[in-house]
Amino acid sequence: MSIQDHIKKIKDDIPEHVRLVAVSKTKPVETIIEAYDGGQRVFGENKAQDLIAKQALMPADIQWHFIGHLQTNKVKYMVPFIEMIESVDSLKLLKEINKQAAKIDRKVNCLLQFHIASEDTKFGLDMAKAEEILESEVFASMKHIIICGVMGMATYTDDEAVLREEFGRLKTYFTKIKAKYFSDHQSFTEISMGMSGDYQIAIEEGSTNIRVGTLIFSSNI
Ligand SMILES: *Cc1c(COP(=O)(O)O)cnc(C)c1O
Repeated sequence: MSIQDHIKKIKDDIPEHVRLVAVSKTKPVETIIEAYDGGQRVFGENKAQDLIAKQALMPADIQWHFIGHLQTNKVKYMVPFIEMIESVDSLKLLKEINKQAAKIDRKVNCLLQFHIASEDTKFGLDMAKAEEILESEVFASMKHIIICGVMGMATYTDDEAVLREEFGRLKTYFTKIKAKYFSDHQSFTEISMGMSGDYQIAIEEGSTNIRVGTLIFSSNI
């Protein structure tokens, strides 16, 4: 099956309200263009340098999502074009995004990344840290950030119970944060969870945005 067939198969499999982010990290531009030519417009990258290099070479109507750990010194290169930064995990990072976005009078869509997996190598906030950010005066003064929801990566496992517990927890964070801080904000709608191995379960648990790489670009099925 071709890249385009893989995308079609996933799109046919997911509800219409769920966005498919094609994770093109490590893939060359020629490969990504195959997906683009099949109609895919939303792509995800996890390294700032790669994203910036590819964006310059690819069609301008691509919506790029950043899904990796972002260093503040790379923010200024990304802010002019990025559709969504899914991996915000500190107030320091938010401040820099806001500062760079203010310079060009843009608003940047962001998700708060939560740590939901049992592995402790994965980045992300816990509820206490997220609340500290959301309740800070400096956050309240940011005019160039739109917090659109939450993001998380589950443990790398095929144990369905573990996955459901972790995805369910992210959904709970989303619901609590929405009720407490964003009840009158139309834009707080996104729960980004689910990858090649677990996206069906993630959707059953409430995902609105799945990030799929291997199944699109490296699958022999
Ligand atoms: C690589 C990556 C994905 C996609 O993983 P696959 O298993 O290849 O689908 C999703 N989210 C993040 C944050 C990633 O780094």
